Amino acid sequence: MAASGIAHVLFDIDNTLTRYRPHALDRTFEGNFLFPLIADLAEDAGIQREKAETIISETAKEKIFWDYTDFLPPLGLSLSGALPAFRKWHAENLDVLSDAVGLVGKLKDYGIPVSIISNNPHLGCLLKLERCGLADAASGKSCFTRILSTDLILGCKGDADVWKRALKELALPPDRIVTVGDNFEEDARLPLREGVGCCFLLERDLPPPFPLPPRIRRIRDAGDIADDGIFRVFSS
Ligand SMILES: [Mg+2]
Repeated sequence: MAASGIAHVLFDIDNTLTRYRPHALDRTFEGNFLFPLIADLAEDAGIQREKAETIISETAKEKIFWDYTDFLPPLGLSLSGALPAFRKWHAENLDVLSDAVGLVGKLKDYGIPVSIISNNPHLGCLLKLERCGLADAASGKSCFTRILSTDLILGCKGDADVWKRALKELALPPDRIVTVGDNFEEDARLPLREGVGCCFLLERDLPPPFPLPPRIRRIRDAGDIADDGIFRVFSS
């Protein structure tokens, strides 16, 4: 590891590495797109739909920072049994954003460790990363050092306390961490306030109508920053 420079890059997932296709979120239960699939699987296994939905609702209430795996045992389901349906949904409903996936690969080539911070639970992250070719949802393996998911950092990254916990998990000087994401508040303003060195804000569409503070840099395409000087200590 270099003595100075960037020590770690934290990637967002939604609208950074993957994007929901139109109508992907048309079918939800309690606002979640995989809950209807879990209820389908329970129904296929002989549980009345209403009962399955009650179990899903109660489990989500009991465990606020749940992962999808928490819903399977109470319904008599296994991860290996549920994975084909989960994978099919992701294949049909998610687009892969190849510029950012390419940037992950390039940073790995440079030897820069990369991690995820996301408003998805752990298995939700793995399924989306698997769609990008960056993880395996069955084994839990991925090319990321850490997956800072909602069940681990106890909430969503729109909360400053969640960012504090996330940075503590990485146990690195915050000013040597870079973020890459699409949301000004969650991926740039809050981490910057916690001392992160630089935030790359992906604006593939129109820019917001306000100037950005120093150390937040607008990018149109994640590929544009692969050769950025901020990473040079690793790529040279
Ligand atoms: Mg996002």
